[in-house]
Amino acid sequence: PAARRLLEVSDIEVVYGGAILAVADVSLAVGEGEIVALLGANGAGKSTVLKAVSGLAAADRATVRRGHVRFDGQDILGIAANRLAKQGIVHVLEGRHVFAHLTVEENLLSGAFLHRPTRKELLRRVDDIYAWFPRLKDKRRTLAGLTSGGEQQMLAIGRALLTQPRLVLLDEPSMGLAPRIVQEIFQIIVRLNREKGVAFLLAEQNAALSLAHASRAYILESGRVALAGTSAELATRDDLHHIYLGGP
Ligand code: ATP
Repeated sequence: PAARRLLEVSDIEVVYGGAILAVADVSLAVGEGEIVALLGANGAGKSTVLKAVSGLAAADRATVRRGHVRFDGQDILGIAANRLAKQGIVHVLEGRHVFAHLTVEENLLSGAFLHRPTRKELLRRVDDIYAWFPRLKDKRRTLAGLTSGGEQQMLAIGRALLTQPRLVLLDEPSMGLAPRIVQEIFQIIVRLNREKGVAFLLAEQNAALSLAHASRAYILESGRVALAGTSAELATRDDLHHIYLGGP
């Protein structure tokens, strides 16, 4: 990429429980302020790569046995997720883990607990999120568990943004959502990227959608990068689904 490298993953191998090889050999990079897609069928290793970067692998008894992960030129492998969040990397897990019994606003407020900003600064950040996600403002007093799947995905992203990240690791934001709400979410991601300079590494099974919004993509197959290139190049390959993504 033309932009300076923000994230650099080199030759990582990740194993669950000391035995199950989930990622055999993956190298990828995300430039400063870039949107990069990580594509692949179910089980290809996308989530595992994100966890290796965010420091959440350890929580799943996964070990990065080989390779390097660098963020802003610094080796970050083995640094815990809460410390990485302070350095500007935040991971939005697959499946929208919001606190169902807290309101939308309480969920947002919880996003900044590591940073402990002043009350005034905290409310300013929450207001900023409402400007990006007006639906969340409308539902601010609603229990998160009673909002729609799309709203919960927005909430998970909004809460992550409370840490003011430079890089968001976003796992399957489109999963289980109607196309219209997915479009809305992706448009906000693109605006966050353009207007705030937030970089995204986006794990997705939906290739067409991702290629339409990312500048580049890596396609994983059985824990390896099978194909990589600009979205424009990859979008012209009509064998993509058939060969790499396990689709029709
Ligand atoms: P999905 O979209 O289903 O999440 P993925 O591409 O993100 O797919 P991963 O979840 O990274 O793939 O899974 C990669 C491999 O690691 C799979 O073979 C999976 O079975 C295995 N795996 C994932 N999580 C664990 C775990 N907690 N313990 C053991 N094996 C795991």
